[in-house]
Amino acid sequence: MHLYGTQAIDGQGHLTIGGVNSIELAKEYGTPLFVYDIELFRKRARAFQETFESAGIGYQVAYASKAFSSIAIYQVAAQEGLSLDVVSGGELFTAVKAGFPKEKIHFHGNNKSLGELQMAFEEGIGCIVVDNFHEIGQLKLLSEELKQPMNILLRVTPGIEAHTHDYITTGQEDSKFGFDLNNGQADQAFEQTHRHDYLNVLGLHCHIGSQIFDTAAFRLAAGKLVSKMSEWQKEFDYQCKVLNLGGGFGIRYTEEDQPLEPSQYVKEMIDTVKQITEDSGFPVPEIWIEPGRSLVGDAGTTLYTIGSMKEVPEIRKYIAVDGGMSDNIRPALYGAAYSSMIANKGHQALSETYTVAGKCCESGDKLIEQATLPEAEAGDILAVFCTGAYGYSMASNYNRIARPAVVFAENGKHQLAVRRETHEDIVSLDLEYGVKAEL
Ligand SMILES: *Cc1c(COP(=O)(O)O)cnc(C)c1O
Repeated sequence: MHLYGTQAIDGQGHLTIGGVNSIELAKEYGTPLFVYDIELFRKRARAFQETFESAGIGYQVAYASKAFSSIAIYQVAAQEGLSLDVVSGGELFTAVKAGFPKEKIHFHGNNKSLGELQMAFEEGIGCIVVDNFHEIGQLKLLSEELKQPMNILLRVTPGIEAHTHDYITTGQEDSKFGFDLNNGQADQAFEQTHRHDYLNVLGLHCHIGSQIFDTAAFRLAAGKLVSKMSEWQKEFDYQCKVLNLGGGFGIRYTEEDQPLEPSQYVKEMIDTVKQITEDSGFPVPEIWIEPGRSLVGDAGTTLYTIGSMKEVPEIRKYIAVDGGMSDNIRPALYGAAYSSMIANKGHQALSETYTVAGKCCESGDKLIEQATLPEAEAGDILAVFCTGAYGYSMASNYNRIARPAVVFAENGKHQLAVRRETHEDIVSLDLEYGVKAEL
């Protein structure tokens, strides 16, 4: 069994997180419950930033907050000096509510609405990552109308797709995001923006994938972006200030995953960028990165209560928990694998293999195909590890199941960060049949 961050097993065989007994948390807040190890989040944030500091180069580490968005996590991110990526009006609103420093907010998305762009101008955020020609048109109109400048990065697709252990280089990338770097779209986007009165092109952005376990694809992408910068410098006398290489740094969900230390990804990125910019004879730009999963993924654990069990003789034993695809859709959506333990039986031998099923009305609602655990009983607390990224943020009310509470644990203390939904919350948007309500 692999424990993460501050996790430990206490004398009673109970899992502790941030110095807090998880069984007590389950009693106090109920289950399913997301518990975040805030010390681990801080540690990850610092590891990324210290690597840039020691290399002595300009940087921003932006938390890609679609991984887990809430007011409290944005406030911790702000304390750690992180920047913030938002991808919708909802995430931007959350950031504003959290009091996140606006100049450090970056707005992403392949179809930002006019309303969302207006909001970005009103709030005076740090930069908009421009994805397509439609958006360029809208930004020009808005900034001219408001007579308000805006920093932008141009999102490009360098023709590299990275997945876990390998990557593919394609001449053109078939992606819904960004301007193609190879077919002239990126150049066209640059020509349309770099002389504009209000749009200030800071540089280039790319994001090549997720759950990436080596650095080759990042180095390749960096090379492609720098050579484009160098072309624009020669042709337009343009000095690029920012190179944003996105996120996608892998984490360990199960023993099969062997990611690098966060600092290692960054170190190799920096070395590559330094080397190729020096070779091309221009100053090293600021490097920005956008970790999501690698900041919050293994900091999050979900606690469930085990209820019913079913044995299909000779085939498998199911244990069912009080959540499922409604709080973690990743296994059903793309076969994601997780590891787990019975949080109140940390001292017992791992004698059984179970399939962990959720409670949603879908046969595919299984959280773990094969979990090696001690013998389980109804009432045991199952801890599923590494659920901090794309768990709560993708949660739904499928089957009208209330979304779980989120608790932060740190230094022996705990606090509610997102309250559990109630049945009243669930019907709060519903209207009676035949009653005409205000919009
Ligand atoms: C999703 C996303 C990220 C974060 O990806 P992780 O795999 O969670 O690190 C960063 N940048 C962009 C543009 C993204 O879409």
